[in-house]
Amino acid sequence: MPGGANRPRALVSLLLPENNLLALHPGDTVGIVGGGQLGRMLAIAAARLGFQTAILDPQPDSPAFQVTNHKIVAAYDDSKALHQLASLSDVITYEFENVPVDALSKLGNDIKIHPSVQALETSQDRLVEKNFFQKSGIATALFFEVDDDNSLNTTLEQCGGQGILKTRRFGYDGKGQVRVSTTDPKSLKSALELATSAPCILEGLVDFGCEISIIAARGHDGVIATYDPAENVHRDGILRTSTVPANVSTETIKKATNIAGQVLEALEYVGVIGIEFFVMRDGALLVNEFAPRVHNSGHWTEAACAVSQFEQHIRAIAGLPLAKTHRLNDCRMENLIGDDMDEVPEILSKSDAVLHLYGKSEIRAGRKMGHVTYLCPQS
Ligand code: AMP
Repeated sequence: MPGGANRPRALVSLLLPENNLLALHPGDTVGIVGGGQLGRMLAIAAARLGFQTAILDPQPDSPAFQVTNHKIVAAYDDSKALHQLASLSDVITYEFENVPVDALSKLGNDIKIHPSVQALETSQDRLVEKNFFQKSGIATALFFEVDDDNSLNTTLEQCGGQGILKTRRFGYDGKGQVRVSTTDPKSLKSALELATSAPCILEGLVDFGCEISIIAARGHDGVIATYDPAENVHRDGILRTSTVPANVSTETIKKATNIAGQVLEALEYVGVIGIEFFVMRDGALLVNEFAPRVHNSGHWTEAACAVSQFEQHIRAIAGLPLAKTHRLNDCRMENLIGDDMDEVPEILSKSDAVLHLYGKSEIRAGRKMGHVTYLCPQS
């Protein structure tokens, strides 16, 4: 077993009361499935707490490989590689929700996996996820299962003639989605192509006032900590900016925080979760989706809170106490996507800008290259 038995006593007592049998100790290893920017920022946070990391990713030039102790280059469903990751690690987590559940489940009881495979599975399929919200009494947009042109036509009518068709699985950053209207033949054609290529859901088009997200965490001990909600602006389905505080009422913040707690409890969750909401013009909330991982709309926490979402996640899965989540500054996080990298020299000259680049050498249109958080005076 990694870590554990032969650990020097001085280190054992560094972090925690010795009776916390779940806790990892300095020198122990966090295994991360996925080596993108989220894996990279998790690895940096783990290193700051004295942990090692082992990362599995099929791409040899993954950004997280630049900052990890152990690299495993292999497919996510390569069971030999997953067992190698488990043998190096004291706990396993993941940085994206499309990790094959079957492959992870095969690790069985050999290793703790947080967040749970159940949470991962729920988030992977938009229909399962929406049904989970509905069963938990959490309001969402109108949604219908669609798997052929007949069900598309019928459900479009039920949505008032317009909606967003989304593939049930493997969609991210607006991919696998078509905005469709019965009065727009071009959109109908694209929707038909999508509906016949993969199982989908059709969501009613939500006329929201704004979008917010909540980053929250639950520890092994059931303690929940929630950051302030961020107000998010998306363009072409990709997050562009997150501003905190969000321009919503205290009542709406309270409701979003309660829903986050409800989701974490229902899933008996351990780790950080990101939950996205539509805020209606009357302040009512509809949940859009949750991500069982650290989230792009929580990157501001590294600049404006003492403990970021990344450290909070590592704390949670390592069995350490969660940190307080209060915000020290108002702020605005901007993603640096593709050619936004041209702005870096100017950003470097600003005294209120906290820049974070992901170490990706090739700039491509639509590729997330980094982010910057501007700290603003607190309102
Ligand atoms: P998603 O992939 O579900 O997170 O969607 C990406 C973005 O598309 C959301 O953040 C919204 O800006 C927009 N969007 C998604 N679903 C809907 C909907 N049902 N109604 C209106 N806008 C939506």
